[in-house]
Amino acid sequence: MSAGENVVSTGSVTDDGARWPFHVLAKPTGPVCNLACDYCFFLAKEALYPGSRFRMSDETLDRYLRQLFEAHRGMPEVVVAWQGGEPTLMGVDFFRRSIELEQRYMEPGQSVLNTIQTNGTLIDDEWASFLGENQFLVGISIDGPAEVHDAFRHDKAGRPTFDRVMAGLAKLREHAVDYNVLCTVHSANQDRGREVYRFLRDECGAEFIQFIPIVERPAPGGIPTGTEVTERSVSPEGYGRFMIEVFEEWVRRDIGTVYVQQFDSALANFVGEPGAVCVHAPVCGRQVAMEDNGDVYSCDHFVQPDCLLGNVASASLAELVDSDEQVAFGDAKRTTLTRYCLQCGVLRLCNGGCPKDRFATSPLGDEGHQCLCAGYFAFFNHIAGPLADMAALLSAGRAPAELMARHSAEDSTRSRNDLCPCGSGRKWKNCHGGR
Ligand code: SF4
Ligand code: SF4
Repeated sequence: MSAGENVVSTGSVTDDGARWPFHVLAKPTGPVCNLACDYCFFLAKEALYPGSRFRMSDETLDRYLRQLFEAHRGMPEVVVAWQGGEPTLMGVDFFRRSIELEQRYMEPGQSVLNTIQTNGTLIDDEWASFLGENQFLVGISIDGPAEVHDAFRHDKAGRPTFDRVMAGLAKLREHAVDYNVLCTVHSANQDRGREVYRFLRDECGAEFIQFIPIVERPAPGGIPTGTEVTERSVSPEGYGRFMIEVFEEWVRRDIGTVYVQQFDSALANFVGEPGAVCVHAPVCGRQVAMEDNGDVYSCDHFVQPDCLLGNVASASLAELVDSDEQVAFGDAKRTTLTRYCLQCGVLRLCNGGCPKDRFATSPLGDEGHQCLCAGYFAFFNHIAGPLADMAALLSAGRAPAELMARHSAEDSTRSRNDLCPCGSGRKWKNCHGGR
């Protein structure tokens, strides 16, 4: 489970009529944040609610949690996921009230997982102690070592944020809070996958990492348009290269000890189980976003007027998630695949990626194609062999981590001056064979 991006809850009603869970990313401060990262897509969303204070009222908090728990009756766990903007701007007391309400609405025997995605800069002892005591899973945004992180992540005065984020992370670690790292991949770190991964693992102590590609388009009125992307965006090839570099490091040293969301999800897709990440799931629709005023949108990446499902003051969350409109939104991910995707050898791993990034023209001339296609293809094609090996180990009742020994054996026959198998073009000694 991750605290950051959407996770998968697929389907809505099972054959025997039981309901599946859904996932809500609730944004108590709407798009408001104490930072002003260059690539942030939330900042433009303030225009959707002119004059709003962007603070969730106690009434909306109560209504939201009551509905969330009602919709998950009979289910063993309810996930309460907070995101922003920067949710810690609400102050600790808001979340204390949330915990009280959860205890009021949960059923006997039910458990609750609270998650919060934060930039980490406001985490002090009070916050860390609260988050630890209440067993929050915290997602913290770190893009790599200082010069990479600070390339685009700065505050409203333009000051770098790396030191403040690392101080917040230190507080989380001091208070033994569970955390994972959300790292965006963009033009400033796309060529440094191995280094960024090692930094997150070794310096940040991350055991669960998700990598999110930055694809940023001009968005007049908050709605992205055109096929141009900013120079900050990751290139398709850059994203593929980055993920391959990370994979080549992980597959040698960290299977079973570090969880990279994309790798877990790819293995799940490979063996035909639901993956952990919505981007590469066959359909969307069970992951909605809720603004501070109770407005519910089809997805966190589609907070725009044509994807507004309704408000929890006038409809129930369950009705909104199960609405025809939302089911159609989710199915469109599958039904709008281009011909190029439909004949692609890695379709079952990729599933065409997130619809928000489908604005390119495919090599067969179809519009609405995934703009990161070249990177996804390179990455999934590269890892298909190791995935097959891991799947075979799993089906034999053995641990996928055994693959590391095979890599060690192969690597021991490699000369220091051989080309690195990650495809970087660097010598083995200067790439995955070096420290
Ligand atoms: S639109 Fe994209 S981010 Fe939203 S649920 Fe679908 S795949 Fe996930
Ligand atoms: S790799 Fe490209 S063609 Fe293949 S499924 Fe993904 S987006 Fe479609």
